[in-house]
Amino acid sequence: MTEKLYYDDVYIKESLSRVVEAFEKDGKLLVVLDKTPFYPEGGGQPSDTGRIGDAHVSYVFEEDDTIYHVVDKLPENTLVLCNIDFERRYDFMQQHSGEHMLAATFYKLYGAVSQGFHMGDDYVSIDMSFTEISTEEVKRIESVVNGHIYSNVPVNTFVVTPEESRSLTLRKRVEGEDQVRIVQIGEVDACACCGTHVKYTGEVGIIKIIKTEKYKGMTRIYFKCGRRAFEDYILKHDIVSTLVRNLSTGEGELVDKATNDMAEVKALGRKLGEYKRRLSGYEAQNLKARAENRVVSFIYEDKEMDEVQMIAEDLASEDLFIILGSALSRGIIVFSGGGHNVNVGQFFKENMKAFSGKGGGSAKRAQGSFGYAEDMKAFAAELLKQVNK
Ligand SMILES: [Zn+2]
Repeated sequence: MTEKLYYDDVYIKESLSRVVEAFEKDGKLLVVLDKTPFYPEGGGQPSDTGRIGDAHVSYVFEEDDTIYHVVDKLPENTLVLCNIDFERRYDFMQQHSGEHMLAATFYKLYGAVSQGFHMGDDYVSIDMSFTEISTEEVKRIESVVNGHIYSNVPVNTFVVTPEESRSLTLRKRVEGEDQVRIVQIGEVDACACCGTHVKYTGEVGIIKIIKTEKYKGMTRIYFKCGRRAFEDYILKHDIVSTLVRNLSTGEGELVDKATNDMAEVKALGRKLGEYKRRLSGYEAQNLKARAENRVVSFIYEDKEMDEVQMIAEDLASEDLFIILGSALSRGIIVFSGGGHNVNVGQFFKENMKAFSGKGGGSAKRAQGSFGYAEDMKAFAAELLKQVNK
């Protein structure tokens, strides 16, 4: 049995511990100590990381009251100095205490029950037993929980027997254990939990719901507390400041300005599409007039492939042999016609590789793309030679 220092005092960052066992099992190096400040994975909270002597502790787990530390090398001494990554642990303490208050407030205000909890280095979320939540409800919940944080309510933990626990009003129970550890946050919440928590709710600093989404008939609530929320605020403030600068507007006008700009871009896109279509019609006529031997062959230097395609489509009904390319997009489109008996699909199949191109098509139509514009031009020249044979 390992003495759990984190239950004596969650702020213990280091200890001088005695090595009880140090061995290899299933390719993992494991260390057992007489007492440890390392919290093992459990109750939705990831394990601590840190150092035992000069060995790195990457994972900690508990089995039958013994705590195992996974290390990258076994200690040589019997007495070892242990250090946990306290910044990381404190982050989990802030998130975990925030999660209790959040779940308790959802329960009190809306009767919703927490049915899942994820706390990781990546994100923190709870799954609540309702299918939808409005923006107003999210704001109300945030406001209530932040109120609990500002009130700086003490957080107490104590251990009771299962019988004793039944006489308590608990949000969440644990059955079938000899001892039940209760985490009580003043009048806000009481629930069975084995995790580590801050001593006063003020230490959570702030809670912010980041996102909500439907999840298996529930609603998944993503949130951030403490330093995570502060770092998120820095990130978002930077984004807003950059947009304010780039769009030359005020913070208060930013959303309207962005919405209007997007609508304008869309309208301009539509107008541009119209002009391109009209222009491709003129261009098709122009090419047709310049056709020799019922062949049109032209590579555009400054037109994108979608425009070149439009021109080709406008010419499609003219019974011509058409080779049109875009040097910009390094793409080519070919229609067989004008009495020239060239199976273009087959030509593509047989010659594409030699010009490092990709693509193909039918006897009448084929399309391809190339790594280099020069290869595409050479390919077009080769095809033209074939047509004019
Ligand atoms: Zn908990």
